[in-house]
Amino acid sequence: MTIPSTQPARIIRPEKDTFLSEENPFEAMMSRFDFAAEKLSLDPGLYKILRHPEKQIIVSVPVLRDSGEVDVYTGYRVLYNTSRGPAKGGIRFDMNVSLDEVTALAAWMTWKCAVVNIPFGGAKGGVICDPTAMSAGELERMTRRYTSAIIETLGPDSDVPAPDVNTNERVMAWIMDTYSMHKRHTVTAVVTGKPVSMGGSLGRREATGRGCMFSTREALKRLGMPMKGARIAVQGFGNVGSVAAQLLAEQGASIVAVSDKSGGIYNAAGLDLADVMQWVKEKRLLGGYPKAEAVTNAQLLTLPCDVLLPAALENVITSKNAKDIQARVVVEGANGPTTANADRILEEKGIFVVPDILANAGGVTVSYFEWVQDRGGYFWDEDTVNQRLERIMTQSFDEVVGMAERHGVSNRIGAYMLAIERVAEVHRLRGLYA
Ligand code: GLU
Repeated sequence: MTIPSTQPARIIRPEKDTFLSEENPFEAMMSRFDFAAEKLSLDPGLYKILRHPEKQIIVSVPVLRDSGEVDVYTGYRVLYNTSRGPAKGGIRFDMNVSLDEVTALAAWMTWKCAVVNIPFGGAKGGVICDPTAMSAGELERMTRRYTSAIIETLGPDSDVPAPDVNTNERVMAWIMDTYSMHKRHTVTAVVTGKPVSMGGSLGRREATGRGCMFSTREALKRLGMPMKGARIAVQGFGNVGSVAAQLLAEQGASIVAVSDKSGGIYNAAGLDLADVMQWVKEKRLLGGYPKAEAVTNAQLLTLPCDVLLPAALENVITSKNAKDIQARVVVEGANGPTTANADRILEEKGIFVVPDILANAGGVTVSYFEWVQDRGGYFWDEDTVNQRLERIMTQSFDEVVGMAERHGVSNRIGAYMLAIERVAEVHRLRGLYA
């Protein structure tokens, strides 16, 4: 099927110029998409369709503060593409949320679900807020009001949220409850990343970090580098970074540096991770940890190491610091940690990159398992979850690297090509409803 093409593709510009061009996540996504689409000789009509989000929702979320005042927050939910199945993707609560960012992240979810070949489209949501300045009650009221504002799109067959930056199992429980109260019956499959006691999946909390561990293992294997003693620096010590660090240490790697928003810690001989975890459990943040050298988050990225695992936020590897990266392998635990300009520099340096839409896909893969378990009402043991995750991650890794090698492109472009081809194939089969 050829969808007639009469106009050139329209480039979507950000609403307001909140990012430098290099750091605009939507443009970062689009520049890779364009390159991959060109390599695939994508049909011009499909090219236009896939450059545009299907649906963008903007809502105002009034919240009664504990002080008695009312504050109004802006929330978004973007469904980028649902051709392969229900929209899937997290919700973040953060001051840096914008429509552009949420749209880019929704597109990345579309490509990510296609890379690991699970039957979902891509979505993302966000509320512009500072959750650290809100009480538990305020967060609950905001979550419930946001959920009710976007309730028409939500549903196990239409749009299934999950945790993302600054949201967790607790927030998912409130979303599930709010949705269920509206529907007048309990609907567990409307969100994933829920507490295990109310329909969550065993292994979901660790799944993104575990997927990063599998990706690192496969990358090292391919390069003929041993896992034992591999020096690994992890930026971000949240749900993804801390789990990945622990699982990699269990595999024999040496975690030489970790960081969080309070800064980083470094020990060339390897950190005592159990001790670091104990410190964080007591003090909440890494800052002040006495048994290692203090480094900044920026310094961590350019430390001597074999594997760099950025597991925090977007745009940390840029044209400014990419040339100083010493790692042989970069495994992207975060979404969008590398800018498109930095891609080129990493490629020139011969760094092996496991791109975000593959490296961090373990989370959404186990979200898929959770959704399947909720719908079937039959729950799996943790070993089954982890084994099935391992199979999907290693197979997807081989498919991405195989695609990249066949076409002589980077792993990232290989991953985009694999994903775009899978989404495009469904569009071709379904045809254009007119
Ligand atoms: N927020 C996670 C991600 O970016 C998980 C999404 C999900 O499980 O739906 O992949």
